[in-house]
Amino acid sequence: MSILKVHIYGSPILSKIVDPILKITDDLHKIVDDMFETMYSEDGIGLSANQVGLDMSLCIVDFNLAEDKLGKKVFINMEILEKEGECLGEEGCLSVPDIREKVNRAKKIKIKYQDINFNEIEEEYIGFPARVLQHEYDHLHGIFFVDRLSPLKKSFLKSKLKRLQELSINEQ
Ligand SMILES: [Zn+2]
Repeated sequence: MSILKVHIYGSPILSKIVDPILKITDDLHKIVDDMFETMYSEDGIGLSANQVGLDMSLCIVDFNLAEDKLGKKVFINMEILEKEGECLGEEGCLSVPDIREKVNRAKKIKIKYQDINFNEIEEEYIGFPARVLQHEYDHLHGIFFVDRLSPLKKSFLKSKLKRLQELSINEQ
């Protein structure tokens, strides 16, 4: 297994809608393993493929890290079918280091996705797991959690975000 480079705010691949995955390949199993390895090394709870520079609709979550006993999961081509309620909670992101802010999310979601064996699955998530999944879903659609803040709150982060953007450009 290898640790992949995590792209940060400003990297173009984080600002586009990713491509769907049409079939499972051996490559994909390796990518998933590497993504878990990368996520653990960076102390993340969830990670999207475009955060490691891959243009594909894939994200992974280890819900055990959030003290929810739902285990490790792989979500391919996730769609949110229903959203219910609202709740405010703190979020951070491996691609937006050193910033943590409270974000409004749906409290409960119903999603559809394919697992690593390409089985079609429909599930409901509530509370923190639902928050993590909405955060990853946003990534796969080119949206950062800081984009969900009010314009005023986002303006307070302007210089920090600009610095990340510059760092990201220098890395390319
Ligand atoms: Zn993130």
